[in-house]
Amino acid sequence: MPEILQKLNCPDCGGPLKVQAGDAIVTCGYCGSDVNLAVGSKYFLKHSIIPPKIGLGAIDSLIRGWMARGFLKPGDLAKKSKVISKELQILPLFIVHANVKSEYAGTLTRAGQPTERSGVLEKEYYWKVLGRRASAFPTREYTVPLAAKTDFNVSALVEGAKFLNSEIGEEEAVAAAKQEMDAHHRFLLEKEVDVISKLDTKIGVRDTEFLHVSAWFVTYQYQGKVYNLILDGATGEDIAAEIPQAEKKGLLGSLFGG
Ligand SMILES: [Zn+2]
Repeated sequence: MPEILQKLNCPDCGGPLKVQAGDAIVTCGYCGSDVNLAVGSKYFLKHSIIPPKIGLGAIDSLIRGWMARGFLKPGDLAKKSKVISKELQILPLFIVHANVKSEYAGTLTRAGQPTERSGVLEKEYYWKVLGRRASAFPTREYTVPLAAKTDFNVSALVEGAKFLNSEIGEEEAVAAAKQEMDAHHRFLLEKEVDVISKLDTKIGVRDTEFLHVSAWFVTYQYQGKVYNLILDGATGEDIAAEIPQAEKKGLLGSLFGG
């Protein structure tokens, strides 16, 4: 099977497509067109990118800067830790814009005397769904730096970055978003009502966008243990970070100026 996949060419420019097992939407590395592998033809969803700005030349000082910042970290973190691996990934992300309206009824019991509650919870979402099935990327916590968004073009890509195609198509992304938004509304209402007797959630999808974002996946070692750090490839902000527990002495030391 992989040999057959390797021979696919871009329907737009004829260039060879780099296809990995599991890919559903393949972006041409020459012209930036998207190809739907299931049907072998062009994929027309609007495609944007947040261009990566932190290249190989800037990542080391960015990591050191992050390590040296903030008093909750061990004071010697920047000095004593060692970066084990670092990889810039360009990740596929769907953004599903939807209106979610839940009609609910139930009983509030926590105040003692049970009281009936009913109403409507209506919200507008730009729900993010990662196009990769197995990734440590924290999609829910991630804030897309939308100010930098531009139409997808291959010239926005950085040399040495790992470009990832989407493993899911639009339909699957929308289905996943709907399921998550539905669960999110249930979660919100369970904070308001103790026993939900009726919950009817209607989801109106307005549009879906396909976007590539970037993140540095870093692992570093400190006092014999390995920690993960994920930094935004466009802004350098930390998206997720494992921080070694500061020893009491170290923490007080940095609090009081060491
Ligand atoms: Zn092409």
